[in-house]
Amino acid sequence: MQKITLGYSSIFSSVSDFLQETLFPRFCLVCGKKTEKTYLCEDCKRQIRFLDYPLIDHERNTYFYAITEYSGIIKDAVLNLKFKSCKMLSKELALIIVEFLKKNEIHFDYVSFVPMTRKELLKRGFNQTFLLAKDIKRLTEAELFDKIYKVKDTMRQIGLSKGERVVNLKEAFLVKESIKGDVLVIDDVFTTGSTAREIVKSLNRKIDGKIFFVALSRRIT
Ligand SMILES: [Zn+2]
Repeated sequence: MQKITLGYSSIFSSVSDFLQETLFPRFCLVCGKKTEKTYLCEDCKRQIRFLDYPLIDHERNTYFYAITEYSGIIKDAVLNLKFKSCKMLSKELALIIVEFLKKNEIHFDYVSFVPMTRKELLKRGFNQTFLLAKDIKRLTEAELFDKIYKVKDTMRQIGLSKGERVVNLKEAFLVKESIKGDVLVIDDVFTTGSTAREIVKSLNRKIDGKIFFVALSRRIT
């Protein structure tokens, strides 16, 4: 009897896989190749350039990391996620981040993200770092910490001098709730680190714990 039940269930699962595959075939959202179950194919994954020295800086309770080089596949993936609304890529990129966190034994209680102002959010429709944080929450036991706010509209950092970047982001972030525990803050691209430092500064006024600022990629200039 047991065997028959198992038989039916496995037939059912094959049929369901078949339907899933036929109705919703999956494609790599970077190169367009058909894949089995992911949105980032193995060929693309193999081409990702991981940084030899992911730790960018460490000061007191704070650690800044970037995992990959912002070029090639990762650059395409981030741009497709942000500007072509390929939101399913967030799950694949979150897996890369979680693998890195596990390998480097980075433990945290909360996962947070780089916030946007209301105006920025309305313009893009979603915040890609929030999607990444949500997927990381799903893959780990961490809770989501969504009390970091961006309270000032800023200019795009690209094209600004280092001094201008600092002024542009000054007091741009506000943490509205005290927090006890270690927090992971997720970003997609680390450039000069002005955003990261400004967020950490605001977070440090409210936190009793460590801060791990982890960017999926780093723009190498
Ligand atoms: Zn691909």
